[in-house]
Amino acid sequence: MNEYDSARIRNALGLELTENPKKADVIILNTCSIREKADQKALSSLGRFKNLKAKNPNLIIGMGGCVAQLYGEKLLDRMPHLDLVFGTRTIPLLPKLISDIEEKKRRRTVETSFDIEDVFEIEPYHEEGKVTAYVSVQQGCNKFCIYCIVPTVRGKEVNRPVEDIEREVNNLIKKGVKEITLIGQTVNSYRRDGVKFSQLLWRIAEIEGLLRIRFTTSYPRDVSGKLIEAMRDIPKLCKHIHLPVQSGSNRVLKRMKRTYARESYMDIVRRLRDAVPDIAITTDIIVGFPGETEEDFNNTMTLLEEVEFDGTFSFNYSPRPGTEAATYTDQIPWGISNKRLIRLQELQGEITKRKNVERVGRVEEVLVEGLSRNDPGWISGRTTQNRVVNFPGDRSLTSRMVKVRITEGFQNSLRGKLEEINQGN
Ligand code: SAM
Ligand code: SF4
Repeated sequence: MNEYDSARIRNALGLELTENPKKADVIILNTCSIREKADQKALSSLGRFKNLKAKNPNLIIGMGGCVAQLYGEKLLDRMPHLDLVFGTRTIPLLPKLISDIEEKKRRRTVETSFDIEDVFEIEPYHEEGKVTAYVSVQQGCNKFCIYCIVPTVRGKEVNRPVEDIEREVNNLIKKGVKEITLIGQTVNSYRRDGVKFSQLLWRIAEIEGLLRIRFTTSYPRDVSGKLIEAMRDIPKLCKHIHLPVQSGSNRVLKRMKRTYARESYMDIVRRLRDAVPDIAITTDIIVGFPGETEEDFNNTMTLLEEVEFDGTFSFNYSPRPGTEAATYTDQIPWGISNKRLIRLQELQGEITKRKNVERVGRVEEVLVEGLSRNDPGWISGRTTQNRVVNFPGDRSLTSRMVKVRITEGFQNSLRGKLEEINQGN
């Protein structure tokens, strides 16, 4: 979501990009507040630009995103070299905010309103030659997970009109994009003008020139029968779902207010696998939620083994200002939580590696995204299950769908050999 917003900020400003902060006329920091570490990183990054401002008083420094939304005015008090604070919904106002500062109509501005007419206005900058792109279909979140700061900093759920989504996808296809990922905090709860998420998928699948559709992140209770059918019946829809479970303990899930139990989560997993046998399922886990006992944690470990997730993003619980869970008195010491996190990541690492090794010998369809990062002279792409595959090949194959025989499986990627280039794309 932040990557997408950064690309929108870039387009909103319409300025030439420089990698060198010393050469910049405007510096904008886009920030994340999901955990304390990200929040602190945002503030310390800002500190680094203090000297530049001292040397060049005309330099405009702005902070946007979730940290800006959260602290607003207080940031100006704390950071005398900061000129502009804008929130998660005010990106469309950026050109006016910047020009007002430039023309000295305003100094040191804060604009964090949620009351914006079209929060999706301004499409993101798209890097030339990039084959994949995100498309936002939803802003904000209407759930009440009591550890989470997202509803505070991104506001209530707003769903984007289908026509606007289709227009953005069409624009991207004209720029050479072959795969889009629809994004939203609980993307599968999308509903706009009577169109539900599964229907949106069918509409997007009709767009010519698009080879693949992905979506993230899904909320377990909102996985409908129609969504499962869409995953089975839409050939362009990739065989992967990111379905955060957060914990394997019903006691913890209830306390988190996640609105589902381990058993109902397992039921969704079974239904997805019945409909799409080769589907990849990935998840998010929070370790060390207030009051988490060793038994609760062991329940999460057994869930990992029971589901055999293809991958997991896991985090130590981090208390966030203004959330209910931060006020709980039974916080878990970091030392205990982190030991559990390491155990969990070791277990998931073994499962992921095993599942990757199981792919050896198979022929997978891969959309080539470009040169491989680690192997010079090799190219790289992803399978429908979102596994990275590196294989010897020419970069001219970028944006083509090819068949690759898998020869090796590692923890984070696969290696293979080009078998065939698909015709007609
Ligand atoms: N909306 C998505 C969902 O509920 O699945 C993702 C929201 S959040 C950007 C991504 C992940 O951050 C969550 O799934 C959760 O695991 C984690 N997270 C959220 N709040 C957290 C906190 N206070 N401490 C640690 N991890 C947190
Ligand atoms: Fe946060 Fe996701 Fe829960 Fe929304 S559904 S409150 S974004 S964890």
